[in-house]
Amino acid sequence: MYEGVNASDGIGIGVARVAVEPDLSFTPHKPDDAGDEKQRYAAAVAKFIEQTNAQIERMTQTVGEEAAAIMGAHIEFAEDEGIQEMVNGSIDSGMCAEQAVSEAYDMYYNMFSNMEDELFRERAADVADVKTGLLADLLGKEVVDLSTLPENSVVVVHELTPSMTADIDKDNVAAIVTETGGRTSHSAIIARALEIPAVLSVADCTKNIKGGDMVIVDGSRGRVLVNPADSDLTHYRAKAKQFAEEKQALEAYRGKPTVTGDGDKVLLVANIGNPDDANVAAEHDCEGVGLFRSEFLFMDAKELPTEDEQFTAYQKVALRMKNQPLIIRTLDVGGDKEIPYMNLQKEENPFMGYRAVRYCLNNPEQYKVQLTALLRASAFGDIKIMVPLVTNLDEIRQVKALVEECKADLDARGVSYNKDIEVGTMIETPAASLIADDLAAECDFFSIGTNDLIGYTMCADRGNDKVAYLYDVYQPAVLRSLKRIIEEGNKAGIMVGMCGEAAADPLLIPVLISFGLGEFSVSAPSILRTRRIISEWTKAEADALTEKVMKLKTAAEVKAMLQAAAR
Ligand code: PEP
Ligand code: MG
Repeated sequence: MYEGVNASDGIGIGVARVAVEPDLSFTPHKPDDAGDEKQRYAAAVAKFIEQTNAQIERMTQTVGEEAAAIMGAHIEFAEDEGIQEMVNGSIDSGMCAEQAVSEAYDMYYNMFSNMEDELFRERAADVADVKTGLLADLLGKEVVDLSTLPENSVVVVHELTPSMTADIDKDNVAAIVTETGGRTSHSAIIARALEIPAVLSVADCTKNIKGGDMVIVDGSRGRVLVNPADSDLTHYRAKAKQFAEEKQALEAYRGKPTVTGDGDKVLLVANIGNPDDANVAAEHDCEGVGLFRSEFLFMDAKELPTEDEQFTAYQKVALRMKNQPLIIRTLDVGGDKEIPYMNLQKEENPFMGYRAVRYCLNNPEQYKVQLTALLRASAFGDIKIMVPLVTNLDEIRQVKALVEECKADLDARGVSYNKDIEVGTMIETPAASLIADDLAAECDFFSIGTNDLIGYTMCADRGNDKVAYLYDVYQPAVLRSLKRIIEEGNKAGIMVGMCGEAAADPLLIPVLISFGLGEFSVSAPSILRTRRIISEWTKAEADALTEKVMKLKTAAEVKAMLQAAAR
């Protein structure tokens, strides 16, 4: 089994088609007539633009305008006057069109791929695409044609370029596996738009997987199985069938309000890691964002993002969410989230160490840059600030004091922001759970981070296989903690949400309804399913089940009872 980045959800099973680039090598030569050579180049550009326009038209119908717009960059790079002058200049100085095109586009490729801004680095793939298209035409070669693949193909490729994706016939491609690309790469964005399961950054997959191999791709978990055992095939076929059926049935919940069986409204929002995820969340019908993990902005950069860079990212999501709530968590560095340029020392026990709000309060000037960017962006939407890993009231008080300082600075600068911006806390430590009443008195909202809360409550590392049996939301200790947090928040009249993975746990949802959870923040693909399950429970039914559950003594008993009750 190979592992990679889980870029697009779902299970794909099919036969590998390893798309190897055509041989575009050539022997540089001096053309007889530079004028004719420039004509060849101009004809290649014209053909490329014509083909790309046709692709854009196809893509607009299959993946929508936004994804199709990515191809517009190809036309820009083909038409770019600077590049054209460079190519024609090189031809005038004696190069053949192939060499002139190759050198000009290589120069632009190197320039983009060395840029610090990830968005610019992503442009390098577009430049490479244009070079391939032009060279293929000049050499009379065909670029990999993904539009004519047989049914149930699993596309295995070094890098899925936007133009290849444009050609993909969604009905025939069961899954995609690549050697490069992260969750924000164009390949990932388009794979998600096409809803084709995809696992990216699987090292050497074009060598290790052979054309004709049977492949299972689990895009939700980032796993790829090659020539699997019959038992795996049976297991994943059942999972794929279940995934497809469930997805289809869930469409009935699109555009509907999220209400319990009694008609009581709860908020159903999404967890996101970067501004592009907000589009995906909106496509899945979210009612806002309950957790924007801002540390991904920091992890994707090579140095601390400036106030303006952060502001732009937060503003982008705020505008996308219109007036829906948008909770942005301040930098949660440390633990399992390393940011190399911050040069944090290695610690014996990083999960209990110098991280999250502890790091931020110890670096107030740096923290104020983020708080100021958040405040500025709050003029463009319903942004709320959330503090991670809080264990005591002093931390909240200090963060709020820094927010006030930033507000005063912005007043002095004459910059507008939401003066009533809410400041809330994650409840993800046993200490925060135990002082939930005091925290509720000074916070505008709670969001329960079960991912960490379970680990800290059970003293079981969330990534340690050997103690995974203890890391369980159904443990009575965890359930009692959740009950207490939600009750204390509700008593104080503040919103209590949950942004840990447990918020989307189908078995746990009735218990959370009974406890009085007001907001469920889940990954985008879980939104419609969570809406369905919430709608299937009245408060009285959820209460009756929860009363019995809370009397049980072991996690196994709890799970068994919840499974038996599941709808
Ligand atoms: C959590 O701990 O539940 C949480 C949502 O935060 P993260 O997974 O980023 O630690
Ligand atoms: Mg956490």
